[in-house]
Amino acid sequence: MKVTFLGTGTSQGVPVIACDCPVCSSLDYRDKRLRSSIHLEIEGKSLVVDTGPDFRQQMIREKIHHLDAVLFTHEHKDHTGGLDDIRSYNFLQKKDMPIYGTKKVLNQIKREFAYIFEEVRYPGVPSVITHEIVNEPFSAEGIQVVPIQVLHYRLPVFGFRFGDFTYITDAKYIDDTELEKIKGTKVLVLNALQQSHHLSHFTLEEAIQLVHLIKPELAYFTHISHRLGTHQEVEKTLPPNIHLAFDGLKISI
Ligand SMILES: [Zn+2]
Ligand SMILES: [Zn+2]
Ligand SMILES: [Zn+2]
Repeated sequence: MKVTFLGTGTSQGVPVIACDCPVCSSLDYRDKRLRSSIHLEIEGKSLVVDTGPDFRQQMIREKIHHLDAVLFTHEHKDHTGGLDDIRSYNFLQKKDMPIYGTKKVLNQIKREFAYIFEEVRYPGVPSVITHEIVNEPFSAEGIQVVPIQVLHYRLPVFGFRFGDFTYITDAKYIDDTELEKIKGTKVLVLNALQQSHHLSHFTLEEAIQLVHLIKPELAYFTHISHRLGTHQEVEKTLPPNIHLAFDGLKISI
């Protein structure tokens, strides 16, 4: 399995529009964070988790020429805003794109991208096949996926486990039953927004504590705000098995 971090930034991305802070002004390429998403190459399939507003440039940057399915963690715009650009894959592959999400997520997508779901559709708009998922293991185009339900303030959000790899973004709380599903994972991705308390996201300290509890071999943090600090500074403070992810980072599992 090969995982590519397409984006590792929080909802506004880094740099933030009109911000001159040291992180937003940094010249380090690892401090340029598009909205959070990953691409997986697994058992010959090509999947993405979420299609944020930067989806188009992420897929161009990573030269992803084929896409089999999209899995959605939740309905927030920083995870869904780029859905229109799956059109390119519709044209290339001459088929509808399978998209997986909870009923609530799919309903929101149907509202926000109503033109995709009209009976008589304008030529060239995206075409999708929706697959409703619940908190039970499912198959996405033949790939086994275990959803992990986490809370993002009060909103239930799905993380996803693919064998030895677990990806969780936009979490503030994970209950014991869901934690059990993560245990044994070799590589864990968690959100770590910033140093100070936040209503709907793990802080850096909370994410580190969770890694110590779950004990994966390696952990990467994502969904990072400009308030966390520069990549270089924060990375220095982390335990040896924990790293900040950055856009374009690739890992093989
Ligand atoms: Zn988000
Ligand atoms: Zn800033
Ligand atoms: Zn969110």
